[in-house]
This record gives sequence, structure tokens and C-alpha cells, in this order.
Amino acid sequence: MNEVAGSQGPYDYDLIVVGGGSGGLAASKEAASYGKKVLVLDYVTPTPLGTAWGLGGTCVNVGCIPKKLMHQAALLHQGLEDARKFGWTFDEQVRHEWATLREAIQNYIGSLNWGYRVSLRENAVTYVNAYGEFVEPHKIKATNKKGKETFYTAETFILATGERPRYLGAAGDKEYCITSDDLFSLPHCPGKTLVVGASYVALECAGFLAGLGLDVTVMVRSILLRGFDQQMANLIGDYMESHGVKFIRQFVPFKIEQLEAGTPGRLKVTARSTVGSETIEGEYNTVLLAVGRDACTKNIGLDKVGVKVKEKSGRIPVNDVEQTNVPYIYAIGDILDGKLQLTPVAIQAGRLLAKRLYGGSTVKCDYVNVPTTVFTPLEYGACGFSEEAALEKYGEENVEVYHSYFWPLEWTVPSRDNNKCYAKIICNKQDHARVIGFHVLGPNAGEITQGFGAAMKCGMTKEQLDSTIGIHPVCAEIFTTLSITKQSGANAQLSGC
Ligand SMILES: Cc1cc2nc3c(=O)[nH]c(=O)nc-3n(C[C@H](O)[C@H](O)[C@H](O)COP(=O)(O)OP(=O)(O)OC[C@H]3O[C@@H](n4cnc5c(N)ncnc54)[C@H](O)[C@@H]3O)c2cc1C
Repeated sequence: MNEVAGSQGPYDYDLIVVGGGSGGLAASKEAASYGKKVLVLDYVTPTPLGTAWGLGGTCVNVGCIPKKLMHQAALLHQGLEDARKFGWTFDEQVRHEWATLREAIQNYIGSLNWGYRVSLRENAVTYVNAYGEFVEPHKIKATNKKGKETFYTAETFILATGERPRYLGAAGDKEYCITSDDLFSLPHCPGKTLVVGASYVALECAGFLAGLGLDVTVMVRSILLRGFDQQMANLIGDYMESHGVKFIRQFVPFKIEQLEAGTPGRLKVTARSTVGSETIEGEYNTVLLAVGRDACTKNIGLDKVGVKVKEKSGRIPVNDVEQTNVPYIYAIGDILDGKLQLTPVAIQAGRLLAKRLYGGSTVKCDYVNVPTTVFTPLEYGACGFSEEAALEKYGEENVEVYHSYFWPLEWTVPSRDNNKCYAKIICNKQDHARVIGFHVLGPNAGEITQGFGAAMKCGMTKEQLDSTIGIHPVCAEIFTTLSITKQSGANAQLSGC
């Protein structure tokens, strides 16, 4: 049975997929549709506080789905406030029940977990709830919850093990802090919360918790949203700050102590300045760590089969067909080095990989101009280059930036935040003023950005945008009338209210 790379089998399976998340499920179902014998191993190692979940990976259980639903719950709060200005009256005091929200979201997730199981069965994919680890070439050990080990061989492997939240290494962090892996199923309302980190996960969680009416502080080591357009990142921070989220900048916690157990209890956090020797203390009910995520590539036996991993990040480098340095082992999704870590990216890569492996396709996953959205209270949609990346790549003289603030019509009657929503495009002057960067900060930014992402795939230029007739009155119409360049220095704010 124990064949070496390049040999012809006989193997138990044509394909073993390690990880049943966004990428792994897409790849396995696609592969099975070509009549291949496919096994998916999926296993969730519980968090230090014991939280675990079902089939489907990060997005469904502890990522996109619960966070967007909590974001929606927060938006409804704002909607209730606006409603009075539109003539609605309601006398009862408005209160939020965490337990109701949590239960509704967890029920929905449960239905998705079940749906995934059914669809694997319908697609004739074998699913085993066990942890996969290579033991030798073409052979994997699967260990289930009870510790029972089973060995499987396959001709080809796809690694799709995703990432898990990083801890600080501070005293008490694993005992007392939670991460996004715990938050969405937390049995009690988190209460006064310290969010540590400035990643999109940190800002999104801080945003919806504040939107639910909680006292929220974000502790930031250096900049917000590293890797994103920094002007947009700072506008997001300003908006959150003006809507009650407190920021403690340039501090990192080094000690978390429990003052009182409870649901929630009370924690004392001691933090050190990153620029001086100052230390500060604070008391919170919950400390949510969102300081980055680590690729799950350490304990899956990659050394046994010789798959190279980037030493610092733990991520796996692949070629343009998602193949690792070991020809029969492929990798997709969040564990990839230098690729975007998003659900639709993992799904697309997985599906196309299976089509190439078994369906005779040659289509590769295109990782360029992937649209994305950060679901902070004011949503931020982006596609293509950040302003700083465009300037670095093309030079200041070759880049034109058009921008404008805008005021959603829906916000006028409730007198909400003028000059907070913002639109920006970045054009390459050397290439017909092609739009190489798209950025929008405003309501429904995700919905807006999806369409413009398609236009950018088609090579949209500034001239084409200008010749597009707007839809009135919507936020996105601002992109058809952008006339102020950053270089002109003209004021991009709206005058009057
Ligand atoms: C809070 C949060 C919010 C997010 N919001 C968004 C969003 O709005 N939009 C978006 O596009 N993306 C979002 N993401 C990112 C998105 O969830 C990931 O990009 C996506 O899930 C990656 O898919 P994957 O297949 O690579 O890994 P995952 O979905 O993480 O799946 C990996 C699976 O493999 C399992 N596994 C790991 N090791 C083993 C092993 N050895 N054996 C068996 N099983 C194993 C894991 O338990 C997991 O089930 C968010 C992430 C987080 C944390």
C-alpha cells in the first residue's frame, strides 16, 4: 500500500482533502462530480476554553456568517434610532438580549452544518470527523475525538486546514481571554469588552459589540488594518471613535488576571506602551484577542512528506496551480503564502483545482482584483490597489486619485454624520486611466463593491465610469460623477448639510 510519489497506487482514495472548510468542501464535491473517490477529513481542535463546532470551517461557524449576522443586529439598533426620525414611535425601552441573538445565530449555523453533511453524502464524498496528519508519503493518519487512529492512502492530497486565532503569549491569556472562535457562541453577554488588535476581525467585532450597546475599547499596537488602504483605515477608526468605541493606541497587554469569576466575570488587564515604559491597567468583563491568525500547518506531518512551509508565517508556498513542492500535494485557502484569505477565494481555488485535476480544465484561479469588504459599523469595500501600493508600484506621476465624501440620502432625515462616507478610485494614467483601486466607505459597501469588482475584472477605465449613468438616489452613483482629484488639492467634502 505505501506507495511513493509518482507511483500508480493502489490507494484507498483518489483524493484526500484535509480540512472541511470553505476550500476543502468545494474541492471535494467538485472532484467527486468527476466520479473520483474522495475522502474529507475535518476536525475542530477545541479552543483553550473548550469551544468547538461542526462541519464547514471558519466562515460558517466562527467567521463570515455569525459576524455578518451580529453586524446586522448592530445595524438594526441604529435603524431603530433612525426610525423615530422617520415618524415611528415605540414606547417600550429598547433592550438587546444577547442570548436570543446567540441562539438564533447558532441555530442557523446548525442548519448549515447539517446541510454540508447532506451535500457531501449526496455528492458521494466520504466525510470522517477526524484530525489528519501525514505519516509517510501518500499516507495519512486520522485520529477521531475518542483517539481512535485510522490510516488512509490516496494518490493526491489537498491541504485546506485554514487558520486559528493567535494568542498574545501574555500571562493569563489562554485562561481568561476569548477569541473570535469563542465569541459567537458565548453563552452570556460579554459586557464591558476590551478588544485587543487592529485586524479586520478586531474592528468588526468591536464595531458590532458597541452597536449592541456594550462598552467597548480597542487596544492597538500600531496601525489599524495593516495591508489595507491606510486613509480608509483611519476613516474607519475615526467613525468608530465618534460612535462610542474607545481606542487605546500603542499599548499591548502583558498580564490578564481574573478578579471575579462569573458570566461574565471581571478581568484586570495590565498593558505596556510600545513606545515607552508606561504601563496601564483596566478592568473589563471580557477580553477578546484578535491579534492575528496562524496557519494550521504545524502538526499535520508536513515534515514526513517534505512539504515546504514558510518558516516565519507557517504558510505554504504553491505554484500557479496550487501545487506545493511535493507534486501530489496541493494546498488552497487561508494556509497559502501570499494569497488573500477570504472564503470565496478558497472556494474558487478549490473548485478550479478539482476541475484541472479531474475535469481536463486548464483554468487557473485568478487572485488579482478580488473585491472584499470589512464589516465595520460603516462598511468598507475595496478592490485592487490601496493608494500607497499603487503609488509605490506606478510612481506618483502615473497615478491619479479621484475622491469625494458623500451623504447617503437615508441619513439626511435622521441628521446622521455628514462627510463620513467616502469614495475613492485610483487610476493608472499610463494605461488609459484604468481603475486599479476602488474604495468605498458607507452603508452596504459590500453590495456596492461586488458590482464594481466585476467591472474592474473587465478592465474598467475612468472614461467608462464617467459614461455610466448613475442610479439615483443611491450611494454608488457617486462613482459615476467623481471629478475631484487628490492632486488638485480641491476640497472633497460636501459643503452645507
Ligand atoms: C471572524 C472572521 C470573520 C471572517 N469574515 C469573512 C468575511 O466576511 N468574508 C470572507 O470572505 N472571509 C471571512 N473570513 C475568512 C474566512 O473565514 C476564511 O478565509 C475561510 O474560512 C478560509 O477557508 P479555508 O478552507 O482555507 O479554511 P477553513 O474554513 O478555516 O477550514 C479549515 C478546516 O480544516 C479543519 N482542520 C484543520 N486542521 C485539520 C486537520 N489536521 N485535520 C482535519 N481537519 C483540520 C479546521 O478545523 C477547519 O474546519 C473571516 C474569518 C474570521 C476569523
